Amino acid sequence: MSAPRLHIGRARWFDLLDELHERSEGRHESGAFLLGAIDGTDREVSSIIFYDDLDANAYSSGICILEADSFETLWAHCRTTGLKVVADAHLHGNNGRARQSSSDRTNPMIAKPGHLALIVPRLAERPIWRHHLGVYQYLGSHRWVDLSGWQARSIVRTGTWR
Ligand SMILES: [Zn+2]
Repeated sequence: MSAPRLHIGRARWFDLLDELHERSEGRHESGAFLLGAIDGTDREVSSIIFYDDLDANAYSSGICILEADSFETLWAHCRTTGLKVVADAHLHGNNGRARQSSSDRTNPMIAKPGHLALIVPRLAERPIWRHHLGVYQYLGSHRWVDLSGWQARSIVRTGTWR
């Protein structure tokens, strides 16, 4: 599987971080699905749905948990809009680089090979450096490719595209 490129405009990227931080209330995880189009290895984000928009109780355990109903709402939204889930993103509270928990590894939000999962450290309190993001691509069967570190800067592209 060749490395994906996730294109997200700079303003949308910072809005995403700020919204995730606000929804974390500074004390629990929050998360979102990044929606848009997929063209080969390119994924372009054009809209965002936060987990608590799908389920008001998504963060009540402290980590992000979505019930089956939330996915029905998500898939219905994708059908209506023609958008795809191009990635998900959720917060961890650590400083430094964000890494998958064992629960993140064994419970992919979208259990589809090729799916991209981002983890943002510091509960998304700025500044957030892209090389501190956790960037993981799902292979299936609870296996992932770790694309974090400096290479994350060439995967999560916050400049303009096309
Ligand atoms: Zn996590």
